[in-house]
Amino acid sequence: MEKPNFYWKSLDWEALTRDYPPPGLFEQTVGKMSEDEIRALQNARFLERVAEAWQYPFYRDRWVAAGLEPGDITSLGDIERISPFTTDDLKEAFVRQPPFGDHQPSSEDYFRDAHVRILTSGGTTGLPRVTLFDSRSLEIQGIQSARGFWAQGLRPSDIIQITYTNSLANAAWCTLNGAFHWIGAIPMTTGSGLVTSSARQLQYAAAWGTTAWFTRAEYLARLAEVAVETGFDLHGLRTRHIHSHIGPDANGTRRRALEEAWNAPVYDNYGTHEIGAIAFECREKSGMHISEDTVYVEIADIETGQLLGHGETGNLIATSLYRSVPPIIRFNMRDQLATFPRGKCGCGLCTLKLSNFRGRSDEMVKLRGTNVYPLACTEAIARDPRTNGEFICVVSHEGSGITQREKFVVRIERRGLSVDAQALRSDMDAALHRDLGVRVEVEIVDPGTLAEFTGLGFQNKTRRLLDLRK
Ligand SMILES: [Zn+2]
Repeated sequence: MEKPNFYWKSLDWEALTRDYPPPGLFEQTVGKMSEDEIRALQNARFLERVAEAWQYPFYRDRWVAAGLEPGDITSLGDIERISPFTTDDLKEAFVRQPPFGDHQPSSEDYFRDAHVRILTSGGTTGLPRVTLFDSRSLEIQGIQSARGFWAQGLRPSDIIQITYTNSLANAAWCTLNGAFHWIGAIPMTTGSGLVTSSARQLQYAAAWGTTAWFTRAEYLARLAEVAVETGFDLHGLRTRHIHSHIGPDANGTRRRALEEAWNAPVYDNYGTHEIGAIAFECREKSGMHISEDTVYVEIADIETGQLLGHGETGNLIATSLYRSVPPIIRFNMRDQLATFPRGKCGCGLCTLKLSNFRGRSDEMVKLRGTNVYPLACTEAIARDPRTNGEFICVVSHEGSGITQREKFVVRIERRGLSVDAQALRSDMDAALHRDLGVRVEVEIVDPGTLAEFTGLGFQNKTRRLLDLRK
């Protein structure tokens, strides 16, 4: 006879909290381990994950083709023998074995016995990519998030307003699980501006006493704008801290502007759909602590793939040390960051640290010999009060044959229809030329027209490049 599966029976909770300590335990254990201790733990988990990955054609076929046999990888020291994969490789996994790919379990038996959820990422054309989450992955991702929130000051009495939508994307769920399951704070899941309008978000925060926010930097700026438009006093809220993804912010101007608007500290975090909250800032705001027992981080040169040392910016290659469903071994995220060496932080933690997020290498465009990153436009545009900060870079081909060249246009939204588009355009022209090191075309468009391209409010990562060359 068929029986229901109870979620609470799907995990050994004592073992889980011992192996992946949540806040309160983390700071006393994993969070202050020596380099040798953390390396030994990473090594043991890495070998377990590699053994599991051999079960899936996605890994097995790639590894066999590269001349590897089970047993060849004997420690983390051998990790470079495994070549990294990207989302392009994952896309092929779904083509070989629809609908869930040949890199994760999807048999009827497995689905009957396990607690599995379907979440998705990516997918600008066709169906988005499914990542399955078993109860272990969900809870450990909650623990990762909770470690960061705790270090940033979130406590059980806090009311945290989460402005990511609980839908198929993961960010809202791991935040909810982190705050609710592993801190005991009070989540208010208002979702994005599409679910709860910005004016309503502010009303609820005032009425119900929001003390913490989990919100994208772009949306924090938008809420501040709505506050000005509607005469709402943002400083009158009880906001104590804001947990965010700040993104590129070379000289800290973006953070400072947000902190002034909100009169509260804004903390940066870095995470990915598959691996969860990889790193978080503490109240020192001096680099992000990596949850090293959950992820092994490498930084590789964008062009050559050569591993880089501390302080050098390159692609982040992540290996999940806890995920069995699906295993994630050397995933080149194509996100650009740098690592900082281990050392005791003012907050008491001792971990490897990560820089802020500096851009997406798959959004890089080679323009007349110069590497141009759309995100490098962010600061100049956000700094000018005549824009609302929204933009997208559109790259296309112009001409044909040997005269064919790349055309790079930055479309920027003006704040209102009264803004002089001509004057703004010529100022932006000069500012972007200075910041990018190459001349680009600028087009000024009306507010709200770019949302359908950038995905603002729809996805967790705002798209800044529209590539029409393919
Ligand atoms: Zn710290």
